[in-house]
Amino acid sequence: EIGIEGDVDAPETLQQRAPVVTIMGHVDHGKTSLLDALRGTDVVAGESGGITQHIGAYQVTTKGGEVITFLDTPGHEAFSEMRARGANVTDIVILVVAADDGLMPQTIEAINHTKAAGVPMIVAINKCDKPEANPQKVRERLLEHEIVVEDMGGEVQDVQVSALKKTGLDELIEKILLQAEVMELSANPDRAAEGNVIEAQLDKGRGAVATVLVRKGVLKVGDTFVIGAESGKVRALVNDKGQNVKTAGPSTPVEVLGLSGVPRAGDQLTVVENEARAREVAAYRQEQATKKRTTSAPTSFEHMFSALNTTVIEYPVVVKGDVQGSVEAIVTSLNRISTDEIKVRVLHAGVGAITESDVTLAAASRAPLIGFNVRPNAKARQLAEREKISLRYYDVIYDLLEEVRGEMAGQLAPERIETIVGRAEVLQVFPAGKKDKAAGLLVLDGIIRKGLAARLTRDDVIVSRTNIASLRRFKDDVSEVRAGMECGAVLQDTNDIKAGDTLELFEVEERARTL
Ligand code: GDP
Repeated sequence: EIGIEGDVDAPETLQQRAPVVTIMGHVDHGKTSLLDALRGTDVVAGESGGITQHIGAYQVTTKGGEVITFLDTPGHEAFSEMRARGANVTDIVILVVAADDGLMPQTIEAINHTKAAGVPMIVAINKCDKPEANPQKVRERLLEHEIVVEDMGGEVQDVQVSALKKTGLDELIEKILLQAEVMELSANPDRAAEGNVIEAQLDKGRGAVATVLVRKGVLKVGDTFVIGAESGKVRALVNDKGQNVKTAGPSTPVEVLGLSGVPRAGDQLTVVENEARAREVAAYRQEQATKKRTTSAPTSFEHMFSALNTTVIEYPVVVKGDVQGSVEAIVTSLNRISTDEIKVRVLHAGVGAITESDVTLAAASRAPLIGFNVRPNAKARQLAEREKISLRYYDVIYDLLEEVRGEMAGQLAPERIETIVGRAEVLQVFPAGKKDKAAGLLVLDGIIRKGLAARLTRDDVIVSRTNIASLRRFKDDVSEVRAGMECGAVLQDTNDIKAGDTLELFEVEERARTL
């Protein structure tokens, strides 16, 4: 029942779970109002007799009996901060846009944070009760950011609402459920629980308290767990209605009491068998946290198949600049650097100082943050230090492009250039140690040299790869043998070799890539 942390559950163990929804948008566009209005639609809140508790997330049971979990901390900073900690808890983003105000800078930030996370979006056009509301203009402006709503022939669902007058809420809920259905959200409830911290604080009466969103399994009172680098034993669980509960299943937010310290938002909770295991997991996490970021360039072996492999490496960046013209020029030039193998992905580009939003976005995607004639504000600088974000400042576009180009090339495996230098026929095979084979060869063309790499082919199919460990002619060790001559060779690490096979000898040169 207790799995390895982060392991994958078998398909047959999976059961449907509630979608987890985050609301994002520009300040004052109605995120908080919409969260409150949606909370008001919960059909069980009244009968449960509980008092509404703000624990960072809440659940709504719809008239149809479906459950939706809403994260109660709106805004993209919280969203991407969680993601930077490896907690991709949000299934669906609701982008709130006030119909009178239209798209504003934070709306665009929210769009880019959502896109970077690859989370589907539903657009809630709010304040439709206002006489100056212009929902159609919102839809048109969204097009500029490649968000095509259904009305405009696209796939993104949109809905007109008024958080104030509580109109359009049923339709919004319907669209969330529809989106969730398409996503087939599921989790295994029959296993040790895993979850993520939504928020945490030190409570006077109760000690360290964390709201945890359970992702898989069922969290139970009495469970031993690790949260981040802290451990503990569940003393009590409190739900979003302020009720003490014994268990919490997938997609359920609960307050957890019984922690040894206050964890951070996004930290993972894992239930373990015992204290000893808890210490082991905590130590492992500490180690992971201190490990430096390493770029995972493909190995040269993978690279040989890169022509067959259509995956393109992405190089994500966040760009901030002093004026619109330079930002546009940078984005255009960056896109031009892209090749079939590696592509620049501009997560966000904007005018103005580097903000916390930019840093959290960069951190979540491990992207460098480029400032062109701009600097970060104080908070952003602190956050960047904490998140170990690479901040680069430039005042010459050429320098910026050269550096990015160099880094992108560095992420590509070196080019392997193989030159065939000779071919030989296998005449006879003898055993030579555990892994190696000795073979009598006839050099057909070119040359055989000691140390060369070789491919063994049979009926024009490659059967194995090897190396010439040593070469002999009659009783003498030699370093090379030419076409038309016979020789003996020890072939490293070969099992599958027969008389009649062809040996193809080649030289390999590795060349660093440029773009
Ligand atoms: P947030 O900053 O995005 O969380 O926005 P709030 O929910 O705090 O709302 C900002 C202001 O807009 C408040 O004065 C709300 O009363 C108002 N507001 C929110 N939703 C609506 C709406 O649907 N219609 C109207 N007319 N006002 C709204």
